[in-house]
Amino acid sequence: MPDSNPQRQWQSLSPREVTALLDSSDAGLTTAEASRRLSTYGPNALPTPRLPGFPRLFLRQFASPLIYVLLAAMAVSLGVGKLADATFIGLILLLNALIGALQEYHAHRSAQALRKLMVNRVQVVRDGETIEIPGEELVPGDLVLLGSGDRVPADLYLLEAKGLEVDESVLTGESLPVGKDSDLLCAPDAPLAERFNQCFAGSLVASGRGRGVVTGTGLATEVGKLSLSLESAEEAKPPLFQRIERFSKKLTIALLVSVALLAAIELARDTPPLLIFMTAVALAVSAIPEGLPMALTVVLSIGTRRMVRRHVIVRKLVAVESLGSCTVIAADKTGTLTENRLTASEVALLDDRNYHIGTNHPSDEVIERLCRVAALCNEAEVHKTDDGQWQGSGDAVDQALLAMACKCGIERGHLLARYPLCSQIHYEPALGYAATLHNDGERGLSCVKGALEKLLPMCSSMATAAGDVPLDNSRALDAMKSLAERGARVLALAEGKLPASDRVFPEQLHNLCLLGLVGMVDPLRPEAAQAVSDCRTAGIHVCMLTGDHPHTALSIARELKLADREDGAVTGMELARAEAQGSRAVDQLTSGTRVYARVSPDQKLTIVQSLQRQGEFVAVTGDGVNDAPALHSAHVGVAMGERGTEVAKESADLLLTDDNFASVVAGVEEGRIAYRNIRKVVFFLISTGAAEIVLFVLSTAFAMPLPLTPVQLLWLNLVTNSVQSVGLALEPGEGDEMQRPPRPPRESLFDPLMLRRVITSGLVMGGVAFSCFYWLLQQGWQVEQARNSVLLLMVLFENVQVFNSRSEVRSIFHQPFFSNPVLLLGTLAAQGLHILSMYSPLMQGVLGVSPVSLAHWTGLLSLAMLQLLAMELLLRISNWRESNTAAG
Ligand code: ADP
Ligand code: MG
Repeated sequence: MPDSNPQRQWQSLSPREVTALLDSSDAGLTTAEASRRLSTYGPNALPTPRLPGFPRLFLRQFASPLIYVLLAAMAVSLGVGKLADATFIGLILLLNALIGALQEYHAHRSAQALRKLMVNRVQVVRDGETIEIPGEELVPGDLVLLGSGDRVPADLYLLEAKGLEVDESVLTGESLPVGKDSDLLCAPDAPLAERFNQCFAGSLVASGRGRGVVTGTGLATEVGKLSLSLESAEEAKPPLFQRIERFSKKLTIALLVSVALLAAIELARDTPPLLIFMTAVALAVSAIPEGLPMALTVVLSIGTRRMVRRHVIVRKLVAVESLGSCTVIAADKTGTLTENRLTASEVALLDDRNYHIGTNHPSDEVIERLCRVAALCNEAEVHKTDDGQWQGSGDAVDQALLAMACKCGIERGHLLARYPLCSQIHYEPALGYAATLHNDGERGLSCVKGALEKLLPMCSSMATAAGDVPLDNSRALDAMKSLAERGARVLALAEGKLPASDRVFPEQLHNLCLLGLVGMVDPLRPEAAQAVSDCRTAGIHVCMLTGDHPHTALSIARELKLADREDGAVTGMELARAEAQGSRAVDQLTSGTRVYARVSPDQKLTIVQSLQRQGEFVAVTGDGVNDAPALHSAHVGVAMGERGTEVAKESADLLLTDDNFASVVAGVEEGRIAYRNIRKVVFFLISTGAAEIVLFVLSTAFAMPLPLTPVQLLWLNLVTNSVQSVGLALEPGEGDEMQRPPRPPRESLFDPLMLRRVITSGLVMGGVAFSCFYWLLQQGWQVEQARNSVLLLMVLFENVQVFNSRSEVRSIFHQPFFSNPVLLLGTLAAQGLHILSMYSPLMQGVLGVSPVSLAHWTGLLSLAMLQLLAMELLLRISNWRESNTAAG
């Protein structure tokens, strides 16, 4: 068992002491030992913040000004001895809080379930082999490998650090990355920020590679001791919520003013003040859409659950809706549009000889040298499985190169014994190449691989069948072009002989001999072409970004039908030149461009910002450390959940669990459905409220008695309405979401269409209900009897209106009636509940209702159907106008 005293000053101990204390070795722990330690030390995780329990959520529902008013109303009812009314208000409050708490609880739970899906995978050495495990399974003594973009999974003592720079801002607040050095011993009292031979859980690797032994996990880490939460602090409310809240507030003020006016008029008319007070309260509660923000949360969290089924994990709730409104998707080529399963298919030598790998690999000296570089300058591991497939770990390019070397009969192990590794420059996308330096007896051997443009300046000769000859650039470029035009990713390989081997890089990378080019095919994802065409139908521009050569990029873009024959590619160099001229020049370059090639990772940000300046709503996909700024500044950042680095994932709003472009498109569709559902719920809640206001305004204007009692109003709103609105949040898509262009980014929820529909509904429902009330009183009905009918009519109106809310663009006769069972059940439940109370003696007393004849019920239902007709007519008119303007 290791001695992992939390007080120990690891930074002042030597690597040997640390490894001994932790009972670890170069081969890492054994699996058995690791699981023993896991049961002793527990999982490497910080306790997640506890969710508010149901009782808390329930109580929280009462913290709203409207509820205070209702509570006051309840107190007043009690004070004047109206026990039944008070009880009823109390019950409704409870029910309302229950529904609210249930919804919120559900939203919290699904957010938590989502968090569980996001595991941090870590590379460790166990039983002498490098494997990947979930970060939670780390134990003290484990040997961990770090690479750029990783999140440090536990506190580590560094045994090795190569260009390792770590962002420790979580712990130290220092935003610039700190360089690490495994060869330094630090003072026992060195502060965190100055322990250069340690890495701390929660910090992010900005660049380089490292190897370290775990000194502390979970709560025993420095973050754990500070009991810091790694989750970023709660963010500012997103614009959608702000807009909804602002609207709610405005509406509330307008409604309060009109209710106060009505109350004043009634008061002048000698209506009893108590009745006026109660009615005013009920009317305000009914018409004010205080439930809107919650309804929004519910719709969005339903959206997140749907997205998970389509391989999209939502990190920020509003991203559901934002994805639906994006107008441009800037997609990575490698791994998103293609599978990133590279196979070296072809070798082009510089004397115009071309070979297909796997069919005929001649015993050729140049090929042999090429394969030697491919195997030596390599960070991957591969082996052949029993069924003849190649499997491995590490960078896809390196795996392909290693497999190629194996196929040509070259064994990496043998080579390394013959040419021991001295030093190494790791591949970083911003660098564009990788290099290793080996001992070759008295001399040194350097192996370099990377983009041809990067290698050409380093080379002075090239290999041919007739020996090494002076380099001919145009020959190399021609070979490159012919490989790239077939869509292959091209890597150039070169080697150099050095007088001595122990000098520093990279000054020695010159006078190299270019050996040849390897073309690698990366199969397109089968769904990608369809997804690109779906985007086109949905009015979304797709652009492709890659570090590959323009010819490779264009060839693949054409295969995907993302670009046509005429399209060219904008290269990183052109972009850099435009950047020097200012943002106008950049915008000119990016407008209409679909393919970007040889772009450096940080140019992604330039492209995104330029598109945003042009008014586009941009979604970006990314996976690397260098993608983080672009992911962050895009309207919607989408990170690859499988292959993406932790840094990229943390900057993104959404994660794709299958790294597949088609999932982004599925997410767009779900986002559009969610936005529509928000509109549906909003329309339903506001239009029924408007109807009640119209009904009361008309009654007051015509000096009639109040058409509904306070209790009836509350019933209508807090019971029958809520039962139904939940169903609307669950509406499935209408099927044409991806056939329409994205909505304009600035479009408000309350656009002319929404206003038209709300005003028409309010006038029709309120007007019909008023006429019914008026007519019944004219017929000599008692006020109570007339109210009974008006109330029933209003419930029927709600039942009808929920179907009107199901679509803004589709006739009610074209809706699949049974596609939303919850909505149907909700409607039946609302009507059923009301009919039940008409027959229940208790409710009869409280609610002032009584049974009606079937004929009467049918009569009222036909009146309610008028609302359906009205909305249908409105739809026809706007469709007709639309087609007229389109034709004209
Ligand atoms: P993408 O943006 O499409 O993922 P990359 O930035 O990964 O493209 O690759 C761009 C270029 O960098 C490739 O065309 C290749 O020339 C070179 N390259 C990629 N991976 C490696 C590697 N492991 N070693 C050396 N060079 C590489
Ligand atoms: Mg890449």
